Amino acid sequence: MSTDESQRRYVIVGGGLAASRAVEGVRSIDERGPIVLVTEEDEIPYERPPLSKGVLKGDDEPDSVYPHDRGWYDEQHVQLHVGDPATSLDAAARTVTLRSGEQVAFDRLLLATGSSARALEVPGAELDGVLYLREKGESSALRERLTDGARVVVVGAGWIGLEVAAAASEAGCSVTVVEPQAAPLVRVVGEQVGGWFADLHRRHGVTLRLDTGVERITGDTKAEGVVLEGGETLPADVVVVGVGITPNTGLAEGAGITVDDGIRTDEHLHTSADGVLAAGDVASWRSTALDTHVRVEHWANAHDGGYAAGRSMAGSDEAYDPIPFFYSDQYDAGLEYAGYVPADVDPEVVLRGEPSTDEFMAFWVVPAEGADGRVRVLAGMHVNVWDTMDAVQALVRDRTPVDRERLADPDADLSELAGVPAPDAS
Ligand SMILES: Cc1cc2nc3c(=O)[nH]c(=O)nc-3n(C[C@H](O)[C@H](O)[C@H](O)COP(=O)(O)OP(=O)(O)OC[C@H]3O[C@@H](n4cnc5c(N)ncnc54)[C@H](O)[C@@H]3O)c2cc1C
Repeated sequence: MSTDESQRRYVIVGGGLAASRAVEGVRSIDERGPIVLVTEEDEIPYERPPLSKGVLKGDDEPDSVYPHDRGWYDEQHVQLHVGDPATSLDAAARTVTLRSGEQVAFDRLLLATGSSARALEVPGAELDGVLYLREKGESSALRERLTDGARVVVVGAGWIGLEVAAAASEAGCSVTVVEPQAAPLVRVVGEQVGGWFADLHRRHGVTLRLDTGVERITGDTKAEGVVLEGGETLPADVVVVGVGITPNTGLAEGAGITVDDGIRTDEHLHTSADGVLAAGDVASWRSTALDTHVRVEHWANAHDGGYAAGRSMAGSDEAYDPIPFFYSDQYDAGLEYAGYVPADVDPEVVLRGEPSTDEFMAFWVVPAEGADGRVRVLAGMHVNVWDTMDAVQALVRDRTPVDRERLADPDADLSELAGVPAPDAS
């Protein structure tokens, strides 16, 4: 493809789904402008959810994680710099410097640098057999160790920790999850729904050690045990750490771009530096619907936000304004969550259906202003109650005041409550 000087030059920094989708976004508007895509890992962009699900369990091929193969990037006239990360950014000069020393000039730059696993900072955490799960190679390394009878200690009962616990238990391992909170996922779902997660895992033979943390990991060169606060040692062949992630904001910070929880953007995903955008896990975007800045670590946000950023780079003025959406699979429980509960809000939880049936919904609600007794839904989740997320997202977006009893009643039509068309039953 020939280029001319009137064309916009695009640079995309990142090797995840947001980066790949940004190429699609740019090309949906601009078929010709040169695109350079820069990754840190020795991989073309890939998506991560299968790393703790199908790929980890061996149900899916490791190569199923690529949204596009190399040939597709050639067809899109994307120049790939794989395994040559951006090490600095000069926003005023509009150049990015790569580790190889190469300088790449841009008119529009997307930072889609995602996040990195937070390290467990206890003695012994560097031993062989202490694993993390963020990258493709880490999923294969873990899979090799999830053998029948292996003793697996999972540190952290967040989404990744619970999905690993489920995969390990299904592989015949003896699994213990250690979590300092009183129930799994307490900060996201509260104790009541967290209790359902605890019960689900116990029913599948997983031992939960709640209200306690890890003091150290024992072993000479290889992890052999996990010492809990109080001194008890859990024998371990494998220790999997899932204690959260940190957004990769270093490039932006180095360039003087505004960063708080993530890289701050407006509703078009533009950062504080002219010509520089951010999307995916690393971005804290201005949500008009939620009237706040939002940063989430969700596949859907990388998928849709990456695409929106690509379009924004190419000149679109559409705002990116989704209601955040997340999903997880554990054993036979498929669940989806939509909405957003700000950290400083302590919502009431309304249940719809009986959790012990493994088919129920939960809503996080606050009193609706001026609507006596009724509530407003901040977020909703279902377990095995499919086709409900459009209604939940509408309730959140429209701030619809709803009657608590009807919300809790599985026979009351949720779509009607939300004022959206019922899902097509066919
Ligand atoms: C194991 C696992 C399971 C998950 N399961 C789910 C799920 O079930 N549902 C769900 O909604 N979400 C899930 N997620 C979260 C989801 O995968 C993330 O939200 C998503 O990957 C974010 O995409 P991203 O492109 O923003 O960032 P990332 O996927 O983190 O990709 C960022 C990439 O940028 C690269 N990079 C960083 N710095 C530089 C640099 N300076 N130069 C070049 N490249 C750089 C990184 O190496 C990385 O490859 C899961 C995540 C993991 C790890």
